[in-house]
Amino acid sequence: MNYYSLNDSQNKNKANTSFEEAVVRGIAPDKGLYFPSEITPLDKAFIDNIEKYSNEEIAYEVIKQFVGDEIPESVLKSIIEETLCFDFPTVKIEEDIYSLELFHGPTMAFKDVGARFMARCLGYFNRDKNDKTVTVLVATSGDTGGAVASGFLGVKGVEVVILYPSGKVSDIQEKQLTTLGQNITALKVDGVFDDCQDMVKTAFLDENLSDQNLTSANSINVARWLPQMFYFFFAYKQLKAQGKELVFSVPSGNFGNICAGIMANKLGLPIKHFIASTNINDTVPRYMATRKYSPMPSKQTISNAMDVGNPSNFIRIQTLFDNDFEALNKKFSSFSYTDEETKITMQEIYKKSAYVADPHGAVGYMGLKKYQKENPQVTGVFLETAHPVKFLDIVEDTLSVSVEIPEQIKAVMDKKKESHSIKNYDDLKSYLKNR
Ligand SMILES: *Cc1c(COP(=O)(O)O)cnc(C)c1O
Repeated sequence: MNYYSLNDSQNKNKANTSFEEAVVRGIAPDKGLYFPSEITPLDKAFIDNIEKYSNEEIAYEVIKQFVGDEIPESVLKSIIEETLCFDFPTVKIEEDIYSLELFHGPTMAFKDVGARFMARCLGYFNRDKNDKTVTVLVATSGDTGGAVASGFLGVKGVEVVILYPSGKVSDIQEKQLTTLGQNITALKVDGVFDDCQDMVKTAFLDENLSDQNLTSANSINVARWLPQMFYFFFAYKQLKAQGKELVFSVPSGNFGNICAGIMANKLGLPIKHFIASTNINDTVPRYMATRKYSPMPSKQTISNAMDVGNPSNFIRIQTLFDNDFEALNKKFSSFSYTDEETKITMQEIYKKSAYVADPHGAVGYMGLKKYQKENPQVTGVFLETAHPVKFLDIVEDTLSVSVEIPEQIKAVMDKKKESHSIKNYDDLKSYLKNR
């Protein structure tokens, strides 16, 4: 499979970046996001009979065209098997409303799948480059850091450097990214998520750092973004027997997850509509309402993994709709909610269904409810993107319940946090140069 840069769409036909190159580079030299040059729908018979296939078989069918022959079939199958070592249940919350729980992995947020898949692809591409270390440089608003740290821990030939905004991630999130050691280093940035993301982007383009073999593990990296398609197929497999059309509401920050859902739809998965639910970082909902795209600095909220002011993947979504606003508007809605509304909704869900939703899931639920009000004849799924324990203080305060701490989290609770503090890009650069 060849990829091209979205900054160079007119040359799509000459796309010549391999999957390996796209994964290793993360972002194209012209700063554009990589995009596959072709998307071939899956066999209809496969989708019609999806319940006969295991999750691993489904994942292989879904991803293989995007990897091509660059990873041998047997290796790709074992990468998938190691990536998908946990469950993806749909839980009925109310009539026609399901929670797709994506938090049963090692760091209890949906990013585990993308991070584990990407780490293993990179490990394969590095298999005989003994002297050459790749550095994965990643900015996190909360959950990416932990998932990437866990996914890449101990992967040969890969060093991981994580930038996170000081005081703006939850205590458990911070523990997950600062306590692993080995090939993982955390840099605590005096700033917000956008500052971290800007520094990472600057570093990729800095010629003075070209000797560092930097790559990205944010959802701009195709190996992190594309495996997220699996979730939508797994949900469809579980809910197909309902016999109603499916809609998905995705709590969105950088818009990678929902963009993967739209890709799944392009591959032929029957999905009627997508709802991108956001917190007050509402660049996309404002765009859908006004047709003006005006990014804003990110604001801090209780659903911090979505505190993104300029969502990187929105351009991929527009590309999937051939930059046709009317086509996008037909298939895609986007709604924004405040922290106050989120908390009230967490309480309502708990009261009505005895279900503990985390703030991100609650935002997804609200978007779904809003859509279903106008479109009642559908089965709705909201993505529960993180386990409530990751936002322990907020969940316990809002619901007056105590959340049982799962083993994965207990394992990091008592470990000592280790990080370096940095203030600006020069600090990052000198850290990278002098390690
Ligand atoms: C990363 C994250 C999101 C946002 O996902 P995007 O793909 O960036 O839109 C939502 N919820 C949680 C819990 C996350 O960690």
